[in-house]
Amino acid sequence: LTDRLNQVFTQLRRRGKLSEADVDAALREVRLALLDADVHYSVVKKFTAGVRERAVGAEVSRALNPAQQVIKIVHEELISTLGEPERLNLTGEKPRVIMLVGLQGSGKTTAAAKLARLLRSQGERVLLAAADPYRPAAVQQLVTLGGTVGVEVFTDSRLNPPELVQKAYEQGIKGGYSILIADTAGRSQMDDTLMDELKAITRKVKPADILLVVDSMVGQEALHIAEGFRDTVTLTGLILTKMDGDARGGAAISIRSVTGVPIKFLGVGEGIDALEVYDPRRLASRILGMGDVIGLIEKAEAAFDLEGTQNQAARMMSGKFSLEDFAAQMKQIRKMGPISQIFDMLPGNLGKVAQQVSPQDAEKQLKLTEAIISSMTREERREPDILNASRRRRIARGSGVDVQDVNRVMKNFREAQKLMKTLQKTGGRGLPKIFG
Ligand code: GDP
Ligand code: MG
Repeated sequence: LTDRLNQVFTQLRRRGKLSEADVDAALREVRLALLDADVHYSVVKKFTAGVRERAVGAEVSRALNPAQQVIKIVHEELISTLGEPERLNLTGEKPRVIMLVGLQGSGKTTAAAKLARLLRSQGERVLLAAADPYRPAAVQQLVTLGGTVGVEVFTDSRLNPPELVQKAYEQGIKGGYSILIADTAGRSQMDDTLMDELKAITRKVKPADILLVVDSMVGQEALHIAEGFRDTVTLTGLILTKMDGDARGGAAISIRSVTGVPIKFLGVGEGIDALEVYDPRRLASRILGMGDVIGLIEKAEAAFDLEGTQNQAARMMSGKFSLEDFAAQMKQIRKMGPISQIFDMLPGNLGKVAQQVSPQDAEKQLKLTEAIISSMTREERREPDILNASRRRRIARGSGVDVQDVNRVMKNFREAQKLMKTLQKTGGRGLPKIFG
């Protein structure tokens, strides 16, 4: 996607704002990428309309080219469409029942074992129920997987699925289990018998979670499957399996935005540990087929900041450290995050001295300094020597502070200037430490 987008933008220069033409050209490619990733057409339409609204007229960041900028917006919007991660509803009386539903071959039995392993590692006492008793091979599969992950499996070939889950539940109470995972039968299609059976199970035990297991390879069909199951049982989440294959998982967006069912896990392999807790950032990157593009964009932005810092450092080294540089330095510091974190990053003595100031005071001081410097004229910032008493009074009035505050900022500035001179003499050794 990025390559194609960059092609779209090769003719374009950076300008003040993203134009409609910029955005439309980029969105044509985004639309194709989403359709290619099996996102439903109606969802693509709604989504791109949302992005367009946000992107047209957005300020062009000087760090990014228009292609990167549009991708950034698309990525952010996609993350918000995909929704926040939601945990399992592990509350209520024990054992809490997690029921897995889905079509045959979607990966339910595998997911049941993967989940059992995950929850066990979190200190839960897990019991698996093989509620697919009609197929001996299916029962055996779960028993084998249960053995691999060290979790007991409840089976009884004489019982029908609702009875079996009921019995497993009673066993769960007796045995002091905290979680019961029910692996249900699946048909190759959604039919009434299957749906009635699932409903009957939910009447016997009240599942805390009913997770729909969907094979990401089925593409567009996933949405219909999700709608079908949702009409029968109250789905609390989605497990999208076989994400290690070619499928990019665009179905997840459709399911999430059409049915509102949150994605909880991704299956990423046949192995018993190949279960990922859903992470919208990662999934969004995958759906857009961007690999590490987002990482690169973030690096570009960081590098741009660094460029600014280096220019500033170069000026300081040449001995021309003006109040404008001082103000820029303040801004840079503020951009780095909360003051307390910055203290930790300062080298040696500087860090120790800074620690003695309370973060609140330092934050206040920073704001005050900014306010004072912004009340100065350009000339004053460049030639601080002209700041006589009457100018200082005017600046104090303009920024709503006392003259003493202005004097203090000037004193700090002089000290910073002195520090720069010292650094200049030492040939700049130590400077990189401060500006990392
Ligand atoms: P069920 O019929 O829904 O219980 O599906 P199974 O758990 O038996 O899985 C069907 C097939 O898909 C098996 O061969 C699994 O090994 C395979 N499978 C399940 N989950 C994944 C996954 O995340 N990635 C891959 N590559 N294969 C998977
Ligand atoms: Mg199965």
